[in-house]
Amino acid sequence: MTSINAVTRQIAALEISSKPNTNAAKSTAAAHQKKPSQGQNVSKLLSKFAAPNPFPAGHSKAASSSTIPTKHGRPASPTKPTPAAPAQPAPTPAPSQQTIDIGRYDGGFEIDNENRGEKVYGEAAEELALDSSIARYRPTREWHLTDFDIGRPLGKGKFGRVYMVRTKVEPHYILALKCLYKSEIVQSRVEKQIRREIEIQQNLRHPHVLRLYGYFHDEKRIFLMIEFAGKGELYKQLTKHGCFSEKRSARYIDQMADALMYLHAKHVIHRDIKPENLLLGINGELKIGDFGWSVHAPGNRRKTLCGTLDYLPPEMVEGKEHDDKVDLWALGVLTYEFIVGSPPFEDLTGHNATYKRIARVDLKIPSKVSPEAKDLIVKLLQYEPEKRIALSEVRKHPWIVMHRSKGGSTATRAS
Ligand code: AMP
Repeated sequence: MTSINAVTRQIAALEISSKPNTNAAKSTAAAHQKKPSQGQNVSKLLSKFAAPNPFPAGHSKAASSSTIPTKHGRPASPTKPTPAAPAQPAPTPAPSQQTIDIGRYDGGFEIDNENRGEKVYGEAAEELALDSSIARYRPTREWHLTDFDIGRPLGKGKFGRVYMVRTKVEPHYILALKCLYKSEIVQSRVEKQIRREIEIQQNLRHPHVLRLYGYFHDEKRIFLMIEFAGKGELYKQLTKHGCFSEKRSARYIDQMADALMYLHAKHVIHRDIKPENLLLGINGELKIGDFGWSVHAPGNRRKTLCGTLDYLPPEMVEGKEHDDKVDLWALGVLTYEFIVGSPPFEDLTGHNATYKRIARVDLKIPSKVSPEAKDLIVKLLQYEPEKRIALSEVRKHPWIVMHRSKGGSTATRAS
């Protein structure tokens, strides 16, 4: 696949341990021994404990206390966290969350920190002094690296590593902790983009959008506390299977449409929808991640060329203004790629050829695609943005409805 940002994604399998890991701050690999699997219901535990953020602001340091602070700084019951967002039910802590094996830490954060990155100064340092405890909206409590038990590496991103972690403070949430090196962000001149990505993601709450629970920084690094996507990358699944069944594809597209409706209602255009930016939750549900190219654009039409070539709509290829309809086009490309195994306008002879095919809407749908799926793809891949089928109609489309399992395809909708 031709893409501007090549993304490597990997995630290890989940296991349950009899004993929790402790003292990750000392960060030696020996301190993070992997325990044998006990075969408990991982899915149930993770969906429970990789749940909403119960850590509102008003408390100084997570590691210093085993009680959960309330919004007003008063300690609440250690077994009943106060949710940051009232619309979200607080997860019920139980002793078993500590039994989830987060895997063995390889000391990667410290190894990297010795060999990688420099301090940043001036305007860039200010731009990257990101801390959710002092965020304008929904501030969290103050976080530090020492507040987490660190487990197995989940992957490496462009600016640093991602680890599976557990909060030392009750109820010991399982999260993905992503590290970004400030100096590398500055070198790539994406300070503003990273800041925007974080600000956007922090305000989103939807079952199919990866939740950002909090963030903090030190001299050289920014750390993002992200919802743990237990089943890893969707892209990996697609590569493994070549393509998905229409039932599976329809389920994902329904979930995508649901998430995009939520994002668009909040005036967030994703602009970089592609399999590499999608992760899977522990129940196999789709999670949109990576808001690197998102814009928060109330009433704005934008003109920047961005995103992956294969997923770019004609209006962006032709340098015209664009709006949230770009995500509808990308949804059409995604539907095609899920079912067929490659994107519709891919041209291996080069970028220009791909651009031309997109601009001409040179769409050839293989005969194996059902008439219902074909109908939806064609209705999404319209040259004129205004002619693309609306997201609410996507969710009612016969192809989506016929494959939707009883009780609806998405998890309980967030606020
Ligand atoms: P990124 O920097 O976002 O590209 O992340 C690097 C890799 O870490 C990804 O390719 C994923 O395999 C893994 N990863 C990132 N975020 C998560 C998450 N929230 N849950 C599980 N794995 C993740």
